[in-house]
Amino acid sequence: MWDLEADVVIAGYGGAGAAAAIAAVDAGATVIVLEKNPVGGGSTKYSGGTMRAFTDAAMSGDFMETLCDGTTGRDVIDAFVGEASRNPEWLSQLGATVIQQPTYSTYPVSELKAFPSIPGADGIGHRVRVKGAGGPGGMELWAVLARNVEQRNIEIRCSSPATELLVEKEVGVTGVVAVCEGRDVRVRARRAVILTCGGYEFDQDMHRNYLGQTYYGLGNPANTGDGIRLASAIGADLWHMNGVAATFGYKFPELPYAIKQVIPSAGFIYVDQGGARFVDETGTDAHFMWSPTSYVDSRTLVRTRIPAYVIFDEDTRLRGAVAQTGYGKISDIYQWSPDNMAEVRKGWIKTADNVGDLAARINVRPDQLQATVAQYNLQCVGGYDSALGRSPHTLVPIARPPYYAIEMWPCLFNTQGGPRRNARAQIIDVKGTPIKRLYSAGELGSLWHRNYPGAGNLSEALAVGRIAGTNAAAEQSASN
Ligand SMILES: Cc1cc2nc3c(=O)[nH]c(=O)nc-3n(C[C@H](O)[C@H](O)[C@H](O)COP(=O)(O)OP(=O)(O)OC[C@H]3O[C@@H](n4cnc5c(N)ncnc54)[C@H](O)[C@@H]3O)c2cc1C
Repeated sequence: MWDLEADVVIAGYGGAGAAAAIAAVDAGATVIVLEKNPVGGGSTKYSGGTMRAFTDAAMSGDFMETLCDGTTGRDVIDAFVGEASRNPEWLSQLGATVIQQPTYSTYPVSELKAFPSIPGADGIGHRVRVKGAGGPGGMELWAVLARNVEQRNIEIRCSSPATELLVEKEVGVTGVVAVCEGRDVRVRARRAVILTCGGYEFDQDMHRNYLGQTYYGLGNPANTGDGIRLASAIGADLWHMNGVAATFGYKFPELPYAIKQVIPSAGFIYVDQGGARFVDETGTDAHFMWSPTSYVDSRTLVRTRIPAYVIFDEDTRLRGAVAQTGYGKISDIYQWSPDNMAEVRKGWIKTADNVGDLAARINVRPDQLQATVAQYNLQCVGGYDSALGRSPHTLVPIARPPYYAIEMWPCLFNTQGGPRRNARAQIIDVKGTPIKRLYSAGELGSLWHRNYPGAGNLSEALAVGRIAGTNAAAEQSASN
């Protein structure tokens, strides 16, 4: 009947899968981890690697309750916050040095406190990360997790996607079918299965269906919603399917992956296809760009902000790279030039000596872009953005030629949707009952919804991973 077996079987070897595996083994269980890719790490290793400190539990809970807009129960939030505040201590026990993430000033504002006017915003505290040899944060975090998995001799089966959950009446989930070397392998889970397959950043059909528009993914291309289909097939309820953390990025035909945007100076604006500004560019959190990009012109049904354009001048170009290729999937294959000139020469950054000519290069009406830039520069002189309320200290004029424009697209850090889970990390069915012996963790069915403050998903991957691993290990062994 069974090709392989362990007490706990985990599908997905990213941050959540690794945390669940470590916790389950430390609780006395044997574990097999199935991973779709040839190597582990998922989006976790491509991430910025920052987590929240959750310095005040009650305030964090209030803040998250508002952000989740009634979709996530307070018991689920409190269980998460309590465990997530232990992340730094747990990582230290695994041998990591945990440091406070230094603040930096890039735009849009993702590093500063997101949603600062929501009660409790101070409670989630500063960002922390694993200190390492100077690599991107996610790589440092992943190195610690992978080393600890290795030290515990946990069996990892790479290139082995889980394709089906096996269920026995009364008993619950008894195992998983995975494809290993081209054949179906039945993997028995004596105690429980944990799904940690990540989100659906790289399934554009699912984007259209659940998100109403498409995005480019910035992380692991194997995150195509497998865990959502696996859990749905046996009756799991879904939640947060329309929640994402999305920023702006660039996508050029020569490269298969998108590049995250970061601007080193406040001297820039965003314009839509009509040449008009549409958002407070420097005050909108970098994870919140799903909101302004979801606009549809009701007369034409055109999404006039997909793509949109970032416009800047020579002063801003000279301040440094307007893209971040130090992490994200793109870091495997491309490094942006520090002065942006390689990308100007490639034609990725359009340039012209005046704003009218620049508009023509991006198919925007010259008079409209000229009017927008002139109006913006006037507001810089007055120190007041009457249209969009941009902070006065970020009103930096766009006035020194040549001028530059780049087409920009909404890009995903991650999706939040997936099977609904309770405070014990059990997956819940459509009637509200836990599916026996089935758990989940990480961004597959995240407790975060649409209003996401940054650095919360890794906190969740580790904290809920540990909750799932510990509870799965404590299940009674099935006799089948
Ligand atoms: C560029 C970037 C920067 C980010 N920065 C931050 C940050 O600073 N802080 C923060 O909190 N969050 C950040 N995030 C988001 C965060 O990285 C993810 O939400 C988090 O890593 C999710 O962890 P996970 O374990 O749930 O998923 P993942 O780490 O993606 O792991 C899922 C794993 O499951 C595997 N898998 C998929 N399908 C199957 C299957 N059928 N069978 C077996 N395995 C399967 C995948 O290949 C993958 O290895 C960032 C994301 C990106 C892309």
